[in-house]
Amino acid sequence: MPQSIGFIGLGIMGQPMALNLVKAGHRVTAFNRTRSKAEPLERAGARMASSPAEAARGADIVMTIVSDSAAVEEVVLGKGGVLETIRSGAVLIDSSTISPTLSRKIACHVAGRGARMLDAPVTGSKHGAEKGELTFMIGGEREVLDRVLPILQVLGKKHIYCGANGAGLSAKLAQNAIQATMVEVFCEGLVLAAKAGVQPQTMFEIIQSSMARASLTDFKAPFIFKGDFTPYFPLKLMHKDLELAMEAAYAQNVTMPAAAAVKEVYGAAKAQGKGDMDYAAVVTFLEEIAGVQVRTSAAAQATH
Ligand code: NAP
Repeated sequence: MPQSIGFIGLGIMGQPMALNLVKAGHRVTAFNRTRSKAEPLERAGARMASSPAEAARGADIVMTIVSDSAAVEEVVLGKGGVLETIRSGAVLIDSSTISPTLSRKIACHVAGRGARMLDAPVTGSKHGAEKGELTFMIGGEREVLDRVLPILQVLGKKHIYCGANGAGLSAKLAQNAIQATMVEVFCEGLVLAAKAGVQPQTMFEIIQSSMARASLTDFKAPFIFKGDFTPYFPLKLMHKDLELAMEAAYAQNVTMPAAAAVKEVYGAAKAQGKGDMDYAAVVTFLEEIAGVQVRTSAAAQATH
């Protein structure tokens, strides 16, 4: 049954997600801070709102997918935010990767309006969003998830219930700490091999023939070899997720020494101005220190 959906945040992820909801026949009213980015969605048939509050007014479901904790706080609790208009009985689904603590606080505010909230962060990147094949990690009441599942099925192929409010985000932070570490250490290995004169393609073939093979690095390697860091997931957002993972680890007396070190590498790359590039651009930081590039057939340029 077509639903009325308020959709906030038309970035790399939000734009294709909102488009899929329009294509599935839902009535989408969208808001994006930078209005010009909303044009493709408007052409596809969505209505544009001038504020998050306007997008949420009268909606059955409100979806948010914006950069970070501060952005979610602004679009939900801020002036002109979702909380001003969300109707009793509606469901707020936040797919941003943010602090689980903040998410639980927002869920309380939303409950105060007679509505419900799910934290529903995603994995699957830009391609998964475009194809409607995201994986959702969900926190909140199970019964609320069951109610909105048909909408989430338009956007994703897997919907994993993790527990109470905040649990989806806790799972997401753990997953991104693993991914960030995998890509960074993959890049460290490529740089070490390149510096020793081993062709990047040769090193990659070895990795693919070993137990170290992973679909993540299979996907990233061709981009690294071309030096194409068009963002699928911006490096500054990966750094943000590592910060959030550290906060969560601190709060729960968990130690994550490898992820903590990797966080500093992404932080240094961000400080060098690489924040808007894909997070695989972390390789360029390592290359600059080592004085070598891992572009295909570039290993010979190693400076010893
Ligand atoms: P993005 O392309 O940088 O888009 C960010 C969106 O947030 C834009 O719509 C931006 O509006 C909006 N925004 C930022 N600050 C705002 C504020 N203060 N008020 C209102 N809107 C604000 O990011 P993305 O890649 O789509 O990621 C969105 C979220 O999904 C993040 O939490 C990220 O960690 C998570 N995520 C991303 C991926 C991925 O592969 N890209 C995968 C899984 C999860 P403007 O257009 O005006 O800047």
